[in-house]
Order: sequence, then C-alpha cells, then structure tokens
Amino acid sequence: MEASIIKSEGKTSTLLLSDFKVSLVNALRRAIINSVQTMAIEDLNIYKNTSSMYDEILASRLGLVPLKTIAALSKSKKEITFKLKETGPKAVHASDLMCEDKDISPVYPDTLIINLKEGETIDLEAKATFGNGQEHIKFSPAHAFYHFYPSITIKKGDVKGAAKIASLCPVDILEGQGDKLAVKKGKLQDCILCKACEDFAGPDNIKIESDHDKIVFEIENWGQMDTKEILEQAFESLEDEVKEIEKKV
Ligand code: SF4
Repeated sequence: MEASIIKSEGKTSTLLLSDFKVSLVNALRRAIINSVQTMAIEDLNIYKNTSSMYDEILASRLGLVPLKTIAALSKSKKEITFKLKETGPKAVHASDLMCEDKDISPVYPDTLIINLKEGETIDLEAKATFGNGQEHIKFSPAHAFYHFYPSITIKKGDVKGAAKIASLCPVDILEGQGDKLAVKKGKLQDCILCKACEDFAGPDNIKIESDHDKIVFEIENWGQMDTKEILEQAFESLEDEVKEIEKKV
C-alpha cells in the first residue's frame, strides 16, 4: 500500500492511495468525519436576548461556528468559555465572541451571527466542549470522499469535433484544437468520471474507465485543525477500533 499527496491547495488536499482495499479507504473516510475530536459550542447561558432571533436559533448558529481546536487541550480542559455581550445597532460576528483562552478563536471571524437593531441586546455565555461528528456534525473536522483513479484512452490520430468535446468537460481537463484531443498535462486525476465526453464523442474516440488499483482521496478541511492532525487522529481511532475488536474476538 502506498499513499502520496498529489495536491494541497488551501484547506483542500488530494491523496493518491495505491493498492488500498476500498473498505479500508471507506473506514478512513468515516473515521475522519465521525471520530476526530474538535471543539464546538455546546451549552449556552443566555442572560438577555432582546433581538428578533429566538434563543434556539441563536444557539444553533453559535454551535455551528467552527473553532480552532488544539487537540492537546482535550486532556487538560473539559470546556472553554466564551462571552458575548453586544448592543445594537451592530452586526455581531464570530470575532465578537470573547474567549477565556487566547489560543481558541473562531476559524472564520467574519461569520455573521446576528444583526442587532438599535437598542437590541444579547448577553450570553457559551461553553465549548470536545466532541466528534458521530455526536453531532458540528464537531466534524472535514468532508472526505474518494473515487477511483481515472483512465482516459483517446483514439490515436484525429478526433472530429475535438474542441467541442473539450468544452463539454465540467472540470476543464481536456484540450482540443482542430481535430487533436488530449488531456491537459497533470490534470488526469481531476477527471470526475462523468463520461460527458464519451457520451458525446463515442467510446471509439474517447473511452473513460476507472483504475481500481488506485484511489483519489479528497479531504476538504473545515479549518478547526490541519489535515495532517485530522489524518493522524483518524488513523488512531481506527487502530483503537481494531484493538477493541481484537479483544472481543
Ligand atoms: S469523463 Fe467527464 S470529467 Fe472526465 S474527461 Fe470526460 S468530461 Fe471531463
């Protein structure tokens, strides 16, 4: 089994997994989404809310604010407290949440929580705890998905309507000039196997298949922690599960 990073742009990473069993790859996907521990706001004490937003909606919005998570804190702290006290007119953003711990803050400070009108007030205390995606999706650190590596065979020689065929590709990985059709350099793994090109040009001109020995694994990180940490925690949780099964067998 071999794994390598083929692309890493911002919060999105693409891995190439060779000779992995699909069941193992799916277990990794599930572990990333469900088992990694992150922080999110779980409890609120609302002292005052004279805004037009119900307490329940306010709580739901605050719960979904992704928080920078320091995994090591889970051993020493059970919860972190934020305070939010604002009076309108004011657009209240995630950055207005004041945390007792300087290292914890919202990942996206510009997230709008509520627009307070003249004289409206919110005064609350929010407690963030550690949890995982199995308990609530707000704790999930990333979206993870995979597909087989594409294999594209283009007829040797001229392909009629090459430019039109290339223009149909939703991820823009084909280039067509005159009657010459080709895959753009370094773009093969971006093919999403939709077969729009094959449906139009016919399998004699361009044939799309999947290489079942290689899997393209994509991770879209929500920002609470970096992708390396997410993968480490996901593998640890898989290991723990295997040990648990071993004990029971
Ligand atoms: S299968 Fe879809 S994504 Fe892949 S090359 Fe053809 S049109 Fe593009």
